[in-house]
Amino acid sequence: MKTPFYKIAVLLILIISLSIYFLKRCPIEDYKQTAFFMDTRVDVAVYNTSKKQAETVIQAIFDEMQRLENILSKHVSGSDVNRINEAAGRVPVTVEPETILVTSRALEIAELSSGAFDPTVGPLVELWGWGTEKLKVPSAEEIDAVLPLVNYKAVKIDKDNSTIFLAEPGMKLDLGGIAKGFIVDRGREIAQQFSVKALFVNAGGDIGIMGKKPSGEKWRVAVQSPRDPQKWAAILEIEEGCVATSGDYERIFEEGGEIYHHILDPEKGIPAGELASVTIVASESMLSDALSTAVFVLGKDKGMQLLENLEGVEGIVIDKQGEIHVSSGLGDRIEIPQDE
Ligand code: ADP
Ligand code: MG
Repeated sequence: MKTPFYKIAVLLILIISLSIYFLKRCPIEDYKQTAFFMDTRVDVAVYNTSKKQAETVIQAIFDEMQRLENILSKHVSGSDVNRINEAAGRVPVTVEPETILVTSRALEIAELSSGAFDPTVGPLVELWGWGTEKLKVPSAEEIDAVLPLVNYKAVKIDKDNSTIFLAEPGMKLDLGGIAKGFIVDRGREIAQQFSVKALFVNAGGDIGIMGKKPSGEKWRVAVQSPRDPQKWAAILEIEEGCVATSGDYERIFEEGGEIYHHILDPEKGIPAGELASVTIVASESMLSDALSTAVFVLGKDKGMQLLENLEGVEGIVIDKQGEIHVSSGLGDRIEIPQDE
């Protein structure tokens, strides 16, 4: 006797639905997605979870990153940072808790680095034209005119009232050296809330890692050779934590045969000149992000000294001659490929 057509159809639908259900639930090795926030490509990968959970978590992470960009970016009109800058020298501005948190951390790192990291570099960044199409080398007079506005000590945070005030008119807060680190930290926190077993986030060189790789191996993070994008200068083996790199090759322009980059020395008003790249390993991405900029400005001697004094923070400093300097705590967690 022939099976009626509708029975076969029902069976087929059942099989297909069940397959889709199990495919979605089955643990997958890794699941990756990419988006753009803060002018930067952000890659997120979650490991050892179902496809459905991976999609949910990554969406939650991207939603939060978008919300944070809207608060912390100077390129979004009406952001907390823009409102603070517009009210400079006039009134304190009520802001979101995250703006208080990131700005407080930025001021702590400014203090730690004796102002080598300074979140009030905004007027200098603008003078050089970063973030616009019109990049140019300013005159010495132009630089001298804005240098007094670069002064992290004139940022007044009132935690009780949730306000931030820039004491001088013309001052500009610029969280570009720390905000990407913060969105990476938030990504890790969200993954933890969703009980994800392992996560890897990379926001343009600010890397955050949570949990163990499904294979049980350690995570390996490669540090690019500053003068050859095809080569690795070092490879780091890490369990968990954050790695960030600041380099003189990341954002650049050329004028009169000279190359200029975007990490500015807040004291001199020009790009910091001694180093080619700095990589920092820490347990918090805000810290690795801001410290990579700070050490880059401080240079090898003062920068290494700062790293040696900080608990739980390690780093790799590559100077303009290509020499690699490694902080004492990295031990056998670092591999330096020999040039063939
Ligand atoms: P990238 O943004 O390429 O990862 P960094 O993390 O080093 O590089 O941050 C550089 C950004 O930080 C610049 O684009 C600028 O907005 C800001 N910045 C530049 N110089 C300093 C400084 N000395 N202190 C704090 N922020 C800085
Ligand atoms: Mg950085």
